[in-house]
Amino acid sequence: MGKKAREILGLNPEELIKLLNKAYADEWLAYYQYWVGVKVARGIMREAVVSELEQHANDELRHAGMLTARIIQLGGKPLLSPQDWYKESNCGYEAPQDPKVITLLKQNIKGEQCAIGVYKKLADFTKDKDPITYNLALSILGDEIEHEDDLESILEDIENK
Ligand code: FE
Ligand code: FE
Ligand code: MG
Repeated sequence: MGKKAREILGLNPEELIKLLNKAYADEWLAYYQYWVGVKVARGIMREAVVSELEQHANDELRHAGMLTARIIQLGGKPLLSPQDWYKESNCGYEAPQDPKVITLLKQNIKGEQCAIGVYKKLADFTKDKDPITYNLALSILGDEIEHEDDLESILEDIENK
């Protein structure tokens, strides 16, 4: 990070990097949960669900990229080992043991709700202190809110069939 950039940062970069890495861990686990969910999904409206889950997987991977770019810009290092994703994650990982689309949807809705909480907190933490990370948090928060809404809508459609 450049000198002037460090000067205008209104918070402890180490603490911020730690939070960004925890979100980074969440994104990789969310990505894999969606990605493997697509492969195993079975049941009602499978094609519609799978295409939504695929889009979400791509979004989560993109979020991981956005977070790591900011971590590196702040002079930090992204978590380098997958075992650290498990250790540092806020939202954890739920294996799609039951491949029924309804179960997958419910698991992923839970994950999105956790993610919404994580980015709301990151936005609150950085507001008026780090406009770059604040914008990043808002942008990802917007995506996670859309993800939750998409999955809830599909689940409603299925349940009202
Ligand atoms: Fe995400
Ligand atoms: Fe998401
Ligand atoms: Mg979507």
